[in-house]
Amino acid sequence: MGKNITGFDYIITGAGSAGACLASRLTEYRDVSVCLLEAGPRDDRAAIHTPAMIVDAIYSDDLNWHYETAPQAALNNRELYWPRGKTLGGSSSINAMVYIRGGQVDYEAWQALGAQGFGWSDVLPYFRKSEDQQSIQDQFHGAGGPLCVSDLRYINPLSEAFVRAGMERGLPKNDDFNGQNRLGVGPYQVTQRNGRRCSAAAGYLNAEVQARANLTIMVETLATKVLMDGTRAIGVRIKQNGEEKDLIARREVIVTGGAVNSPQILMLSGIGPAEHLREMGISVAVDRPGVGENLQDHLDTGVAFTGKTARSYAYSLRALPKQITEAVRYIFTKKGMLTSNAAETGGFASTKGEDEPDIQFHFVPAIVAARGEPRSKIHGITLHSYVLYPDSRGTIRLASSDPEDHPVIDPQYLTRGHDLQTQINGAKMALDILQAPAFDDERKALQAPENLPQNDADWEAFVREKTETLFHPIGTCKMGPAKDEMAVVDPHCRVYGAKNLRVVDASVMPRLVGGNTNAPTIMIAEKIADIIKAGH
Ligand SMILES: Cc1cc2nc3c(=O)[nH]c(=O)nc-3n(C[C@H](O)[C@H](O)[C@H](O)COP(=O)(O)OP(=O)(O)OC[C@H]3O[C@@H](n4cnc5c(N)ncnc54)[C@H](O)[C@@H]3O)c2cc1C
Repeated sequence: MGKNITGFDYIITGAGSAGACLASRLTEYRDVSVCLLEAGPRDDRAAIHTPAMIVDAIYSDDLNWHYETAPQAALNNRELYWPRGKTLGGSSSINAMVYIRGGQVDYEAWQALGAQGFGWSDVLPYFRKSEDQQSIQDQFHGAGGPLCVSDLRYINPLSEAFVRAGMERGLPKNDDFNGQNRLGVGPYQVTQRNGRRCSAAAGYLNAEVQARANLTIMVETLATKVLMDGTRAIGVRIKQNGEEKDLIARREVIVTGGAVNSPQILMLSGIGPAEHLREMGISVAVDRPGVGENLQDHLDTGVAFTGKTARSYAYSLRALPKQITEAVRYIFTKKGMLTSNAAETGGFASTKGEDEPDIQFHFVPAIVAARGEPRSKIHGITLHSYVLYPDSRGTIRLASSDPEDHPVIDPQYLTRGHDLQTQINGAKMALDILQAPAFDDERKALQAPENLPQNDADWEAFVREKTETLFHPIGTCKMGPAKDEMAVVDPHCRVYGAKNLRVVDASVMPRLVGGNTNAPTIMIAEKIADIIKAGH
């Protein structure tokens, strides 16, 4: 059967965590045609598939969008680097592979905010459906799904020392952060299959899926706007090799550009806050004030010590012989150090001594180098901490009506509520853990902060100067009830005020989950795919 290149039942704009899943699930029905658009190239680089090359993926020239935020007033007016994946698999092709779902309470909170049908008992089956769990067998985990979830094949001895250090500081050991509760320290599970990254593309768009006659994948193709007939979505305008073309969607357009690009494309299509659209010279199709609002992100503070040994990861002469041996080992066995995702262990804690955590740790047996110099030559250890449920809310706005211009990203970090104090308390707790006896034979000198803080004012100065994104933006097309005028989509991800148009990705989350955001995004796509298929 030939592929129709102009008309499709569904057009999906973005092949990231959500888009890859949706395209795969919808084309399970052979009489449904889907066009999956992706602005970036195919995902054929070693930097994507070799876990330890994550830094190369994050800083690659063409695998990501290289966004920067607006100057952040609470962070000494710094503009933070915001990598977002731009290839098949989207951000799941450049992320740190940590598999975390968040807490059961997070989904009850979504439901309370009007995301009907997203309570814990509703979403658990979709986490399980997506999952191909390699080691844990219980009611929380699934087997045989597209997303492979594994134990790490290699754990650095310093990452193991972190778990002991956390326990020395009174945190319980937790062997499954996706089980009954998150509190404690332990090894992370990762989205990897046989020592290679299992991105959403690797999982959902394997060769068999890509060969389906009813799936057309267009890479290096920018969706520039959703074509609207009044309030009805009828297709997508694309730009390919400098040329514009219109594609017709017979049933629906599904926007899956992620938390930055989904509000951008809606606004470029005339869906968003009317006043802002008019300022940009865009005619208003649907006045929806919540588009681009409610931006939330996890902000990360790393405390670090230089190391006495060459056990940590660094680009040093001392480490070179081992790195060469490990590279050869990886090529032949897909085992060893190159399967490391860097953030091998971590955990969750409460800065208030409560049962539910308010911070998460990622331990990295390395000194994370300064921005622009991703390869550190210094050996050392870093403990990252972030506030799970920030109060601060930011915005995504258009800079112009040109789809190739980056939108204005303004997370307004640390501007509200408890965020600054919890960030400080988390960093203090992280320093305390690095000072535990388990690291006595490794700790050399304090590296970040440079001087031991004497009081909260010193900590505040450090946090404002050094914190960076943990890459979890969400919420800019939030799901909510019809009565909430700031909600952008209903619980079936249909855009309020528009017809035949959905947004399905991390942007629809009404509130951050207490954890990393890839698995929850895929869960949303799995659930909405079922809802769409049920309508056939
Ligand atoms: C560096 C980094 C590390 C991370 N680490 C982790 C981790 O360890 N664990 C975890 O759970 N989460 C992690 N995350 C977060 C997680 O990967 C994301 O939350 C998740 O992938 C978001 O999925 P999405 O579908 O919303 O967007 P994305 O996966 O970003 O997908 C959006 C896709 O749409 C494409 N696109 C956008 N606009 C257009 C357009 N106009 N036309 C065509 N295509 C378009 C993009 O190129 C992209 O491929 C990390 C993210 C990053 C960037």
